[in-house]
Amino acid sequence: MKAAKIHQPNHLDTLEIPIPEPAANELLIQVMASGICGTDIHIFRGEYLGPYPVIPGHEFSGLVAAVGQSVTRFKPGDRVAVEPNIACDNCYNCLNNRQNFCLNWQAVGVTRPGGMAQYVTAPEKACFDIGDLSFEDGAFMEPLSCVLHGMQRLGVELADKIAILGAGPIGCLILQVARLQGAAQITVVDKNRSRAEASQAFGAGRLCFSLDDLPKDHYDAVIDATGALPVLARTLDFARPGGKVLWFGVPPSGQSMPIEPFTVFRKGLTVLSSFTSVRNSTQALDLLSTGRVSAAKLVSHQLPLEEFQNGIESIERGEPGVMKVLIRPN
Ligand SMILES: [Zn+2]
Ligand SMILES: [Zn+2]
Repeated sequence: MKAAKIHQPNHLDTLEIPIPEPAANELLIQVMASGICGTDIHIFRGEYLGPYPVIPGHEFSGLVAAVGQSVTRFKPGDRVAVEPNIACDNCYNCLNNRQNFCLNWQAVGVTRPGGMAQYVTAPEKACFDIGDLSFEDGAFMEPLSCVLHGMQRLGVELADKIAILGAGPIGCLILQVARLQGAAQITVVDKNRSRAEASQAFGAGRLCFSLDDLPKDHYDAVIDATGALPVLARTLDFARPGGKVLWFGVPPSGQSMPIEPFTVFRKGLTVLSSFTSVRNSTQALDLLSTGRVSAAKLVSHQLPLEEFQNGIESIERGEPGVMKVLIRPN
């Protein structure tokens, strides 16, 4: 089979390798759609945890090609998506319902081979039946799960005024979930005009093209969906006194930024983060299958596996019209 392998930071190629054998508790999945995520870019650029070499790809859907002997819920031909974070279910954090902080954490596409390949294996407990959902929508089960976890932590209240910084695919998912939670006015900020304008289709109220135009001390909640340090450093300014700030975007590891803790104190802010998800996959599938959240409309490009690096580079350049880039390995 063909697989895209990152050998070390900034070195990637597509190679021919054997199709993996599923273990007794695993499925072998033929990957039909595999989304490029900011995390894949961080892995490619050496800005994220995890070992090399690695086959990336943790947002994917596909067809069950084979099942291990102890698998009971799936059979070949089933359509599935994968929750890539695999918890041991037997450590202190797992036993306290904090599976996202599992002490023996493994992740498909981070610590074990991922979905930027024609086939991938995953434990049965990490696989979810997507029914009639398209493979494009199915590839959003994972990022939407992460958004749901973060937005549940944030706890948007009825008629809240929200600012979302970053109108990429994640910003547009956050926007839709904030509306479902009852937010009244949602301002979306992105210096990339075409991206900001595209967010109107998902319910953005006001658009802003520069943080300098955003009112200070105004929003009930400010959500960063960029992970960019110059943006994160300013998030505290826009929250109202007593408001909340959610740092959702993944920042580069090992880098710091200037913030004034006095602002957090004086404004009585709640500053939150969100790491992966905790059992949000069925919620995500229900929202996608009922159309309460639209995901496939966020796809701007569908590319063969050989174009994986080009896909990464066009996201990095912020080319007009680039939103979610899906790789179609088969
Ligand atoms: Zn991701
Ligand atoms: Zn654990």
